[in-house]
Amino acid sequence: MNMKTLVGSDHSVQISGLQKHFTRPHSGEVTRVIDDVSFSVPQNSFFTLLGPSGCGKTTTLRCLAGLETADSGEIWMNGQAVFSAAAGRDVSPDVRPIAMVPQSYGIWPHMKVFDNAAFPLQYGRKTYPRAERERRVRTMLEQVGLSEYADRWSTQLSGGQQQRLALARALLCEPEVLLLDEPLSNLDAKLRSQLRAELRSFQQKFGVTTIYVTHDQGEALAMSDTIVVMNRGRVEQIGSPSEIYDSPATRFVADFVGSANLIPGVLDRPAGSGDRVVDAKTTVGVVRCERFTTPPTPPTPGQEIFVCIRPENIRIIPEGGETHGPNRFPGRIVTTEYLGDRQEMVVTVGDVSLRAHADAHLRAHPGDDVTVVLDPAWTVALWS
Ligand code: ATP
Repeated sequence: MNMKTLVGSDHSVQISGLQKHFTRPHSGEVTRVIDDVSFSVPQNSFFTLLGPSGCGKTTTLRCLAGLETADSGEIWMNGQAVFSAAAGRDVSPDVRPIAMVPQSYGIWPHMKVFDNAAFPLQYGRKTYPRAERERRVRTMLEQVGLSEYADRWSTQLSGGQQQRLALARALLCEPEVLLLDEPLSNLDAKLRSQLRAELRSFQQKFGVTTIYVTHDQGEALAMSDTIVVMNRGRVEQIGSPSEIYDSPATRFVADFVGSANLIPGVLDRPAGSGDRVVDAKTTVGVVRCERFTTPPTPPTPGQEIFVCIRPENIRIIPEGGETHGPNRFPGRIVTTEYLGDRQEMVVTVGDVSLRAHADAHLRAHPGDDVTVVLDPAWTVALWS
């Protein structure tokens, strides 16, 4: 990345070529936990690092916060380099324009709610006289719905209230960038879904650039403007929630975000630069894919690819129904499960089993012969 292009850009945070390894204390084994990670976070956006446990999300966030030092690469915040391995620059955490809410919230049990929230205004980067501190804290506690708890011990708060207090304290630092590490993971499912909506609306209200770490794909899809999917320290894909869900770039993304059917095959003919369709030869038949991301290398006929289709994009037509059109294949129902609003089915097409969602009222039973339609508009060719 050219440093000059970063200055004055409308990205709050930019990471380029970040690498980080850890050495295990006893065995001396070296593990590279961040492997050439680069991304740009647009100003005022909600940006999520999504991936399975151990893929390097927290380490990336800690590098942003200055709590870990990367081996190589650069980190820019608001046009300033806060880290550059080549230039030997590593701005200390308390000077970086960030506030971080760790997974455990970092609330002090020996302090009351008000004092927890007021702490950064008394001892932090930017301090205020007592009266102004009090005004700011009371306003913030009001905004996060904790006014009436100001004089309670922080240990007397529920999990959701502690989460709000941690957020209030972070926002009181007036950070340019808010870093949130799995802030909902200690809460029960109902509270999680309520608080994810709240978090998102706080982010919009305060207009603060937010980098959020989670392994929960539902959370990432619901809250984010942009998602980075990480796997084994590398970036698999960067995109909006619908780009990630509807046009996954790799098998890993297709499988990790939602659950997709994956059919192995080979490229039937090369996709030219202007082509809008990829044909894949599979044991199901030739499948037309109208979705695919730019291939990493020029595609060649016969190269191995995967066809990805989500259960909701498969249509089941009972015997005797319409059989003409693209991506229609003879299949047989193996199992059906009635869920009220839909039926979930397993159907076989040749030697491939596919999960499909069908209309709740479709009269279909295990053993029935059907036509299985893979909607070409939602069928994705995956290059890896
Ligand atoms: P989780 O969702 O479980 O928190 P994560 O994606 O945030 O996972 P990291 O916490 O970044 O993953 O860890 C990435 C890898 O680095 C893991 O294999 C972890 O064991 C290892 N790791 C993290 N910190 C250290 C450390 N200080 N020393 C050695 N290895 C570490």
